[in-house]
Amino acid sequence: MTQISFEGKVAVVTGAGQGIGRMYALELAKRGAKVVVNDLGVSREGTGKDTSAADGVVDEIIKAGGSAIACYDSVATMEGGKNIIKKAVDTWGRLDILINNAGILRDRSFLKMTEEEWDLVTGVHLKGAFCVTQPALKVMKENNYGRVVFTASASGLYGNFGQTNYGAAKMGMIGMMNSLKQEFSKYNIKINTVAPTAWSRMTADVLPPDFKDKFKPQFNEPMVLYLCAEENSITGEIFVMGAGWYGRSAIVSGDGICIGDADRAISVEEIRDNIEAISSLENSREHDSALSVFSYMGPLLK
Ligand code: NAD
Repeated sequence: MTQISFEGKVAVVTGAGQGIGRMYALELAKRGAKVVVNDLGVSREGTGKDTSAADGVVDEIIKAGGSAIACYDSVATMEGGKNIIKKAVDTWGRLDILINNAGILRDRSFLKMTEEEWDLVTGVHLKGAFCVTQPALKVMKENNYGRVVFTASASGLYGNFGQTNYGAAKMGMIGMMNSLKQEFSKYNIKINTVAPTAWSRMTADVLPPDFKDKFKPQFNEPMVLYLCAEENSITGEIFVMGAGWYGRSAIVSGDGICIGDADRAISVEEIRDNIEAISSLENSREHDSALSVFSYMGPLLK
């Protein structure tokens, strides 16, 4: 079996001071990558600031014989994002891999959610992904090579009580990925999204206690490292995982039904009378661009 190597590659992992991100950083370094370990060192809710989270992982990597450097900037500002990428380029002259992983939680049922809770969570996850990915893609485009991973969540994909801010931010990244895969495919840049599951401080009071030993953060790492490998040719896809299960998730559309002739008005009763066919996901398929949805409307567009 040939080994997947990251020798000669430079990687940035955000939120790598603990939890799942730490596993990505350790394994990338073990396999030869030089790693920027970014972490602001905040609480689960995004408060405080502590350099020891990033420093601890950098120490672990260096003690094991690898190369790493800490970066304590927040992903949630453009200045922070630029600094994180600059750290990689200034230190090692290039950037090949970006794993957007930093995250916080401010769970609250929707009617009680404050504007601050909305802004903080979307600011770290969604705006943060923009702030780090834009400077990263500038460098990757120049080098005609790159691997980017966004971190979504089953909460966004399928829903979770009290996480409208978090779920919206996580799904927003999938919208970003869908456009980016088109903008950057010609530069040999592969951009994918994962929805991991792990026992961490983020989930310790959500997952049942007996899941602790099963949902090890490590189990998320091999899928993400594969997506970051040079041999990976997949782009624009979503992978869901946990406890050693790996699968793909996708947004699909059903065949639907054409009503009318693209000229006469259509009534609400016609929708009611056809709701079963409209709602059916039989023969559902994925679309690789917004334009491909027009294929359903073919009979109406003649
Ligand atoms: P974690 O809390 O253990 O680690 C997140 C890290 O991000 C922390 O070290 C924190 O300091 C850092 N961070 C937070 N805000 C930051 C900022 N503005 N700038 C830089 N660093 C910042 O969480 P985890 O469980 O390892 O989760 C990692 C990612 O996976 C998150 O994006 C999370 O939403 C996602 N996720 C986790 C699970 C799970 O089951 N644990 C499920 C779905 C998605």
